[in-house]
Amino acid sequence: MMKTKIKPTLESVAVHAGEGKKDQYGSHATPIYQTSTYVFDDVEAGAKAFRHEEGGASHVYSRLGNPTVEALERAVCELETYSLDNPEDYAGMAFGSGMAAITTGIIALAKGGHIVAQDALYGCTSQFLKEEVPVMGMSCSFADMSDLFQVEMELKKHPETKLIYLESIANPTMTVADIKALSQLAEEYGAKLMVDNTFATPYHIRPFELGADVVVHSTTKYIGGHGSVIGGVMVAKKEVYEESEAALFRKNLGGIAGPMDAWLTLNGVKTLPLRMKKHAENGMKVARFLEDHPKVDHVFYPGLESHPQHALASSIMKDGYGGMIAFELVGGYEAGVSLMNNVKLCTLAVSLGAVDTLIQHPASMTHSIVDEDLKKQAGITDGLVRISVGIEGAEDIIADLEQALEIQN
Ligand SMILES: *Cc1c(COP(=O)(O)O)cnc(C)c1O
Repeated sequence: MMKTKIKPTLESVAVHAGEGKKDQYGSHATPIYQTSTYVFDDVEAGAKAFRHEEGGASHVYSRLGNPTVEALERAVCELETYSLDNPEDYAGMAFGSGMAAITTGIIALAKGGHIVAQDALYGCTSQFLKEEVPVMGMSCSFADMSDLFQVEMELKKHPETKLIYLESIANPTMTVADIKALSQLAEEYGAKLMVDNTFATPYHIRPFELGADVVVHSTTKYIGGHGSVIGGVMVAKKEVYEESEAALFRKNLGGIAGPMDAWLTLNGVKTLPLRMKKHAENGMKVARFLEDHPKVDHVFYPGLESHPQHALASSIMKDGYGGMIAFELVGGYEAGVSLMNNVKLCTLAVSLGAVDTLIQHPASMTHSIVDEDLKKQAGITDGLVRISVGIEGAEDIIADLEQALEIQN
């Protein structure tokens, strides 16, 4: 009988992703190669390694590469390129933080040129583009990525644009980007498209399928998944790395991940699809509960029909809409503080993508020292609350929010 090759599910790929050859002991789990340097068999092996020739030592020094880190790089790459015909053309690169992946990627890809970036981005990315990029011999302008006309105007104004930068789902209104249309614009104007896929993860959105050139992640969030490690990953075609010399930039800027952190993150990868399924199921239930609550003015969640990009989200997001929700309280600042002080199950903390539900009120917490204009620019209003819905029982999360919204002090 002919055996037809069946494509494994994303769940199966995630469980086995990144596995290489077994080590000399047949270790089942990927070992943590906690070493800074590697011993050469002889001068020849060392010399060949430095000349990148066949038959040389495979590793030289852990700022350049480490077997545990490489397992993570393969794993995230496998998920982001799932369903592509040519996954072997792509590779991953792991970093010590999401910001290291983002900044190294931007510097390598946009060096000496212009960047057109999304107007509302993760705070540190935005600060890097506004304050540091201009002193590094690059320039940056901003556009509303849901307005293709505006993006094209920026590209026309800046013919030296090398990079378009955006987030597949962006704070605070959970804006979903039309990656396909933007990648066509990028190609037309000779720029590369780089997508921060942290909120969506490859479970919901795989930007390469839609034409993106580079994907970056803060693996601190969903990919690590347990709130136990800071990390980042970049995935791109090998030719993009060669052209941009990204490996050289990582080596000299020095942002590679450590082996222990890579190992923790790799454990997260194995359950990513399983967790995202639950995050998305819970996200939908919590969003619906909030939408019906009289003390809630508005809910921003791409899964709700009221979201301005619900149709786009439905066409590009697979198997749900993720676990990130923002909502506006009728009672403004005081109501936000009261909610924060009265939740019991939900964890009062910044960050996102952990197994537990994290809740925060930007106006009184992360953005309390940010001036009014900047807050307004970032869409942070007094009653805005952000929730990263965890994988607890949905009924427990809802009951906690219900009792906390009931109290007003
Ligand atoms: C957290 C985050 C980052 C930064 O990642 P770190 O791991 O904290 O350096 C970048 N982009 C998004 C969307 C994030 O949520």
